[in-house]
Amino acid sequence: MCGIVGYLGKRNSLLILLEGLKRLEYRGYDSCGVVLSNNEEIYLYKKVGKVSELEKEVKNKNLDGNIGLGHTRWATHGGITENNAHPHYDCSQNIFLIHNGIIENYQELKEKLKKKNHNFYSETDSEVFAHLIEEYYKNNDFENSVLKALKEIRGNFAFVIFNKKEKDKLIGARFSSPLILGLGKEEYILASDPSPISLITKNVVYLDDGDMVVVDKNKGVKIFSFLNEKEKPLVIYQINWQIDDIKKENYEHYMIKEIEEEPKAVFNTFYKRLNFERLETNLKELNEIKEKLRNIEKIVLTACGTAYYACLYGRYLFEEYLNLNSEAEIASELRYRNYPYNEKTLLIVISQSGETIDTLEALKIAKKRNVLIIGIINVPGSSITRLVDKVIYTQAGPELAVASTKAFLAQITSLVILMIYLAEIKGINLKNKKQIFEEIKIIPEKIKEIINRKEEIKKLAEDLICFKNFYFLGRKFQYPIALEGALKLKEIAYLHSEAYPAGETKHGPIALIDENFPVFILAPKDSVYEKTISNLEEIKARKGKIILISDEAFEKADYVFKIPKSLEIFYPFLTVVPLHLFAYYFAKILGREIDRPRNLAKSVTVE
Ligand code: GLU
Repeated sequence: MCGIVGYLGKRNSLLILLEGLKRLEYRGYDSCGVVLSNNEEIYLYKKVGKVSELEKEVKNKNLDGNIGLGHTRWATHGGITENNAHPHYDCSQNIFLIHNGIIENYQELKEKLKKKNHNFYSETDSEVFAHLIEEYYKNNDFENSVLKALKEIRGNFAFVIFNKKEKDKLIGARFSSPLILGLGKEEYILASDPSPISLITKNVVYLDDGDMVVVDKNKGVKIFSFLNEKEKPLVIYQINWQIDDIKKENYEHYMIKEIEEEPKAVFNTFYKRLNFERLETNLKELNEIKEKLRNIEKIVLTACGTAYYACLYGRYLFEEYLNLNSEAEIASELRYRNYPYNEKTLLIVISQSGETIDTLEALKIAKKRNVLIIGIINVPGSSITRLVDKVIYTQAGPELAVASTKAFLAQITSLVILMIYLAEIKGINLKNKKQIFEEIKIIPEKIKEIINRKEEIKKLAEDLICFKNFYFLGRKFQYPIALEGALKLKEIAYLHSEAYPAGETKHGPIALIDENFPVFILAPKDSVYEKTISNLEEIKARKGKIILISDEAFEKADYVFKIPKSLEIFYPFLTVVPLHLFAYYFAKILGREIDRPRNLAKSVTVE
């Protein structure tokens, strides 16, 4: 997915680039690089591995330059090598660039450029763009050559480019991949997210698809569309990211810090949006679309990864309480389907980063068909927030570990609030409204109780460390949680784990069960408790090792982790916490790179 950062100003860009890259490392970390320039020299350094290693190499070299680019890579085209690491450059070594995304027609362009005697040193799609600009730069008009090159490429991209011959200028452009401009005092920064920008300023401009920005030390900033060449006004926003929020403090990993922040994420997401005296919601953000929402007859929820499991939770919730036809769809599939939306459909898109490309593409298709769209998003100002009709911001705070935890809790909290709101405006009498309000109020405390018992989960991970396969089973509201438990274990411990709706095991998966197969069974005392316990019996009859997560003890389980009692719709808030902790401790015992698991990146902005 790659993190990119470019700087132009009065300071030594190296320090800003390195610090910025560390903050963007969640986006990719297989290799990295920087290029900076002062009036005479160009300094280019690339490294396979982490930003900290690059930092070690360049730290004592006294490099200086007021213009520079930095990149941390998640490879799509070409192996993980120094040559393939960014920044990339042209034959003349004048044009330097960093890229996030994929140039889909790069092969065809590369062939053409080779015929024109361009030599390529990397296997990346990104390098092609530097040569393409070089080809047009023959007339010595940098801006125009970038513009012409942009018109020739297809795919999704964010670029930042500089030209050794015009060192007062930085050019940025984006299509589908994120790019934000920070405006400081006589200094500018372009980056994939606000975290590097907050190093120098709070004033940002969010670039839109098709935007090209030219930042000139003497002439200031110009933004225009490279699609229709029309100039656009600068719309400046203030970012409110607190630096402390992105510090690891005394925690060994961001992931455990973020699990411990789960109660806060739930509380911060609901407390301003629920009136506990009047038993009412306060979702001002949806006021303008209230009338349209009143008339919807179908809800489609879409997302990727963990956020998709939140969608599944939402589907059960809306069906159960609103009696509304609801579907949860994986965004990378939905975008290619001819989905039968109509004027009474509401689309809900869920994404922590607000940049997830498949979700973004699925929503763009629905938008073209005039579907009403609500986003449930964590990062303010991100691409999805600017395309949907209305946003419900989850208040999880910055989430930096690649494996999502607290954001999931904030997403399902938002869905509960939205469900109550829809019931209010549609005049639906919620069956246990008072209990729902009473319970959500104390859910953060109950989550805290579980986190306080984390040593028990650590011990469980130690006891099970010799196993290589796990099942996670749950019914109804617990099925999305089973999926989440299995995904977390795959993501950070690299273990084979699978989730099934508990009733489905007998249709195949149970064939794998023997005494060496541990099975997590999520069976709180909800409406399907007895059915799930029957599935437990079936597994036990075949000698499977059972880890039961429930508020009821059951003697046939090999291990029981007891959770506090709750309501059916809130049990997922409790059963998911031990699963997050289990994956964390399991991965820790195995010595995995918990915050940056192999092959993954947090915000998936490539296809
Ligand atoms: N396609 C570029 C590469 O492989 C950028 C990849 C990305 O943004 O993830 O280097």
